Amino acid sequence: MIPAHHPSDLLLAEFASGALDEASALVIAAHVAMCSQCRQAVADFECIGGMLLDQVDDGAFDAKRRAQALTAIPVDLPQQPALPRDLAGADGVEAMIDLYGRGPWRWIGPGVYRRGINLEDRGVRAFMLRGAAGTELPHHTHSGTELTLILKGEFSHELGRFQVGDLEEADGGIAHAPRIGNEECICLVAMEGTIRLKGLLGRLIQPFVRL
Ligand SMILES: [Zn+2]
Repeated sequence: MIPAHHPSDLLLAEFASGALDEASALVIAAHVAMCSQCRQAVADFECIGGMLLDQVDDGAFDAKRRAQALTAIPVDLPQQPALPRDLAGADGVEAMIDLYGRGPWRWIGPGVYRRGINLEDRGVRAFMLRGAAGTELPHHTHSGTELTLILKGEFSHELGRFQVGDLEEADGGIAHAPRIGNEECICLVAMEGTIRLKGLLGRLIQPFVRL
């Protein structure tokens, strides 16, 4: 099954070129492992990147040759892109996370648990979140970018329904109040900055939420 929500082309291109921070790269690599469509996109970006570099090396890079390079992409690209070195050999998402190591599940709010992953790069942290069935998270915004990949279960909010394999890309401009579906939901998250809870309930529990 192909997930319904994918990373933006910009994120996939940054991932393919190795420009992403490591926590975001882990989340994108995990999505790519679950999504054949994005595997193909990453392979395409890697191919374009390689050809552009070749052109630059020739000292003859110009718009015409770039256009030729872009149209010369073969249709039968390999299905396995080169993931960041540490992630390439991992067999599945759990094995990718295990490359970094993780702490115990800790209670952070009603029905919600957080499990730290030993990974922080350029101010972006990786962790796992687990929410009990039916839990409604407080309305919140982000001070930075947040990437959330669903590993189990589902949640929905104003912007749609997110199921296993779906990736949500949220930034400070997006306020949402996710509600977890009828089974436990586990997510892999890369978060820059902190979340800001909104509303009276949010302000009351903000001191207890240690994301
Ligand atoms: Zn995808």
